[in-house]
Amino acid sequence: MEDCIFCKIIKGEIPSFKVYEDDYVFAFEDISPISEGHTLVIPKKHAQNLWEITDEDLTAVHLASKKIINAINNVLNPIGVACLQLNGRGVNQVVMHYHLHLIPRLKGGPELPVSSWELKQGDMEAIKQTAEKIAAAIK
Ligand SMILES: [Zn+2]
Repeated sequence: MEDCIFCKIIKGEIPSFKVYEDDYVFAFEDISPISEGHTLVIPKKHAQNLWEITDEDLTAVHLASKKIINAINNVLNPIGVACLQLNGRGVNQVVMHYHLHLIPRLKGGPELPVSSWELKQGDMEAIKQTAEKIAAAIK
């Protein structure tokens, strides 16, 4: 897609700190990292989000993320890695090209804001009704 920053990165029109590439996938360091090693894994074929990405590309992105997370483990020895993927401007997706964030938390590093929220039990009846609606809509 012409005006897409990530498509330009894939084509080399915008420089990036590449960590991995194969026929379907490109991965590079986020230049506004939440933590050291914050990596983005994207499909080479433009798709905006999880609603649009093909099964083949989705599989490739996630298989590549496994290779990369193993490398992150070896190099940075994190105490955990959050995998985050946003779909839509309403949840703060900024670049409208599917991307999976791999966000390591290093020993002694601050809690990751994306993986820290208050756990409190919801309305069980409402949860049950929503689950039934979603389950019935799955194709
Ligand atoms: Zn794109």
